[in-house]
Order: sequence, then C-alpha cells, then structure tokens
Amino acid sequence: MDVSNLAFSIAIAVLCLPCTVFTEANFKVPREIASKFSRDPQILSLASTDYGHIVHETPSQVFEPSSVSDISSLIKFSNSLPTPFTIATRGKAHSILGQAQARRNGVVLNMTNLKGSLVSVSNCSGKSLNCYADVGGEVLWIDVLHATLERGLTPLSWTDYLYLSVGGTLSNAGISGQAFRFGPQISNVLQLDVVTGKGELVSCSRDKNSELFYGVLGGLGQFGVITRARIPLGPAPTRVKWLHLLYNNFNAFSRDQEHLISFSENKNTTAADYVEGMLLFNQPPLDLSFYPDSDHQRITSLVTQNGIIYIIELVKYYDSNSQVAKDVADLVKGLNFVPTFIFEKDASYEEFLNRVYAEELFLRSKGLWEVPHPWLNIWIPRSRISDFNEGVFNNIILKQNISSGISLIYPLNRNKWDDKMSPVTPEEDVFYAVSLLRATSSIDMVKKYESQNQQILEFCKGAGIKITEYLTGNKTQKQWMEHFGSKWKLFADRKAQFDPKRILSPGQGIFQ
Ligand SMILES: Cc1cc2nc3c(=O)[nH]c(=O)nc-3n(C[C@H](O)[C@H](O)[C@H](O)COP(=O)(O)OP(=O)(O)OC[C@H]3O[C@@H](n4cnc5c(N)ncnc54)[C@H](O)[C@@H]3O)c2cc1C
Repeated sequence: MDVSNLAFSIAIAVLCLPCTVFTEANFKVPREIASKFSRDPQILSLASTDYGHIVHETPSQVFEPSSVSDISSLIKFSNSLPTPFTIATRGKAHSILGQAQARRNGVVLNMTNLKGSLVSVSNCSGKSLNCYADVGGEVLWIDVLHATLERGLTPLSWTDYLYLSVGGTLSNAGISGQAFRFGPQISNVLQLDVVTGKGELVSCSRDKNSELFYGVLGGLGQFGVITRARIPLGPAPTRVKWLHLLYNNFNAFSRDQEHLISFSENKNTTAADYVEGMLLFNQPPLDLSFYPDSDHQRITSLVTQNGIIYIIELVKYYDSNSQVAKDVADLVKGLNFVPTFIFEKDASYEEFLNRVYAEELFLRSKGLWEVPHPWLNIWIPRSRISDFNEGVFNNIILKQNISSGISLIYPLNRNKWDDKMSPVTPEEDVFYAVSLLRATSSIDMVKKYESQNQQILEFCKGAGIKITEYLTGNKTQKQWMEHFGSKWKLFADRKAQFDPKRILSPGQGIFQ
C-alpha cells in the first residue's frame, strides 16, 4: 500500500467509524480530494463551535475545498457509501445553536477555505437597472460591499452585521431595516449555482430549475451548497442621515413604524431607506452611545420614568447635492415621538452599513464577543404586536431583573417575500421582527436567558399569538413540522428530491 492509499484508508476509517466493512474493503476516498480532509485538533475545535457558544459538536473531519468541484466530489463520495456521512456547510459559523456544525462521524465543509475570491460586478452603468454582482457563497457581505462600492454600486437589502457569508444569510432570509422596501436578501437574488445533496452542480433561477432555487433560498442548507449567487445592484448613495426618535407609548411607536414602512410602494412620496426599532429598558447597562453626552441625563430620566422607551431608527440616504434636509423633515412630519427627543447623525453609507463592526471591536476589547449568546429571534403578526408588548416586554423582560441586552423590533411587509421560497412567515400583510440579542460569559446567566426565552415562547403559545421563530435550532422533528406548518410537505419533498440521503446541514436537526 503506498502512502497516499494509507492516508485514504485512515481517512475513511475515521469518517465512517461504524462502517467497518468499508474500512476492511479498503474503500478509497477519491484521490483528488483525499488531501483536503483535516483532523488537526485546532481545526476540529474551531469547527465544533459557533457564535452562539452554546452547542458544541466535534466532527470527525473538516474538509477544506479549494474549488467547487472539490465540494461536488465530497458530496458524491458520501453518497457512494452505504452509510453516507453527513456534511455541515460552514460559512462564517455565526449561527447561534450549532446549525453549521456536524455531529460525530460528520464532516464540516469549511467554505471559508475557498477564500472569498469571487465577487464579479457586471459591466453596466450605475444608472442601469441591469447591474449585478456574481458572488461566491463563501464571500462575506462586507467584501461584497467593498467590491460593489468601487463601482459606485450596492446591493439593496442587508443584514445589520456584514461579517456573515452570502451562503449563510441566503440559507436563512437576511433581514434588516431595508427589508420593508426591498424584501429580505433572499428576495434579492437573480440566480444561484448550487451543488445539490447528490453532488450535482446546478444553475437555477426563477425560470430555470426553479424548485431548487426556491428551496435553497431560506432552505437552512438542506438542499445544496450555494457556491454562487447573482445579486442585483443599484446606485450607491454616498451618505446617510441617521435618526433616532424616542417614544414612551408603544401604540404611537408601532403606528409610526407602520406608517413609515407603508411608503415602500409609493414612488411619488419620500420613503425612508431604512426603518428599524429598538427598546431601552430601565435596567443597567443603558447603552446611550448614539446620543450626545449632553443628552444622556434627560434620556436616562425618560427611561427611569417610563420603564421602557421605544426607539424608531430611521435612515435617509443621500448624495452631496440632494435635498436631504427637506426629505428628513417630510419623513418625520406628524410622527408622535416624545417632543424634542429626536437625534440625528450624519455618516458615510459604508460607516452606517458597517455600524455593528464598531460594536464588535468594542465588545472584543471587553472580552464580550466570544461568549455565549442565548438569543431569541421571532416574527410576530401585526394584529398581536400590542399583546406581545404587554405580555413580553412589560410583563416578562422588564419585571425580571436580568439585563435585557440589545432588543430590536421592526415591521416588515409580507408582500416583499416570496411564499415559494422555504421560509415561513406569519400570515398577515405586516409582521414584526423581534430580536433579543444577549451576550454573557456566565453559565448561570445563559440558563436564566434560556429560561426567559422559553417563558416568552410559552406566553405566545398560551395567548394564541402565532409567532414564527427565526434562526432557530435545537428542535425535534415534530417541532420542525410545527414550525413549517402547511409548508412541511413541500420542504420534505424538496429534501427527498435534492438530498435524498439526508447528508446536508445536520446541525439544523431537521432530518437527522
Ligand atoms: C452579530 C450577528 C448579527 C446578525 N445580524 C443579522 C441580521 O441583521 N439579519 C439577519 O437576517 N441575520 C442576522 N444574523 C444571523 C445570520 O444571518 C445567520 O446566523 C447566518 O447563518 C450567518 O451566516 P454564516 O455565514 O455565519 O452562516 P453559518 O452559521 O456558517 O451557516 C448557517 C446555516 O447555513 C448553512 N450554510 C452556510 N453556508 C452555506 C452555503 N454556502 N450553502 C448552503 N448552506 C450554507 C449552514 O450549514 C447552516 O445550516 C446575525 C448573526 C450575528 C452573529
């Protein structure tokens, strides 16, 4: 046996611990990919964690592809075995609950090894409607931003944080304050290249291989590995006016948010370019970093008096010679925030989009980035958002004396989503995204947050509020079936069609 054959045998012995028959039969890992497997303890350790730092599953191997054809060979190899090994596609591993991890005997497919080489912007003029970028699935959105800004262009729909992979966010939905207007990132894709669970490289779009296209978008990595996405681009603005409006009345706050997102269709009216919202709870620490020091005292008093303050975060893009002051005045005219509690910043477009990175650097400096994140992300139908405010924000979070972390709340227009795609959303024209983003280095606190998350879910169930969990995990198959509801059959049929041996993305826990 030559040395490379020995390596193949060792690899397969580890890949397929229960499959001794194949080890004895000296089943060979295809020669062209044999050297791409790693069992380096450091690499295994990295692949067994994620941003959540709650779930840890050590894979048997990490696969480091150098090309799309390596990915195809890996998946075909697994398919060829009587007991195929699972393959967890790992983008930036900014999942919270092990969604990009593989269990024992599984392989983690490390997409970042492709090194984000591919961002190619089409040859078009900035004013044209036909501009797009072809982007590798492993590429980070921050790199898409930089590559497109060089041409005066930009994608239209974002996430709040840009150090996430294109394949990773397109496997979920990808939402931020632009989504009310342009839809989630999955609504902003023209074409995909996907290596399916059978190992076939397939190009797909709304018109070609559409079942795969719709399945993969928001498909939680279940049907294939996204290796390229074609993202439409528009002209990039240079600057933004970035506002915070403070409310002490939830109904006024949500009414104004819904008013602001209602302009998404009307081309003749000034529309906001970004609408989000957040809460300040009367619980330390109070993050007032957006506001001038001279206003901290009066904002703190407002929070102390009211218990909860709701903030609309509103952005208007502009270029140097635009009428932005008038546009901003038109946007805020008639809104019912607490008089004088309106704050405005001016920033470059890039500085605004990349705002969370500044927070990351700060949290890293305090040792608070690489810690457990017991997050809860849910979508709530508009008709029950007031009940949710009362039952969750007032009666659960405010009453429990644990720091609330960052709490986001903003409405989305459902007509910007495509129901043929995999995600399920609440069945109302408008639904709210609520994100409770917590970080703690204390195991005790992780338990408290997890218990609070559970209470919130139970409250919603008890009150008959039909929420949808986003970025969720750690579920039984029965719970996943409930999650997908009437879409479960379609989801399961697509799995049978594109990944019949249930190889891909085991960390989601849907089919394994
Ligand atoms: C700080 C922070 C801020 C965030 N902000 C937002 C936000 O504003 N809006 C929002 O919508 N989300 C947000 N998220 C969530 C984020 O979009 C998801 O966690 C996303 O999955 C992260 O991308 P990733 O590259 O890290 O994916 P990973 O964690 O690596 O993978 C996630 C899932 O996708 C699969 N997958 C990864 N790459 C591919 C691929 N190429 N092809 C097929 N499947 C693949 C994986 O197997 C896994 O199941 C945030 C997360 C963090 C940590």
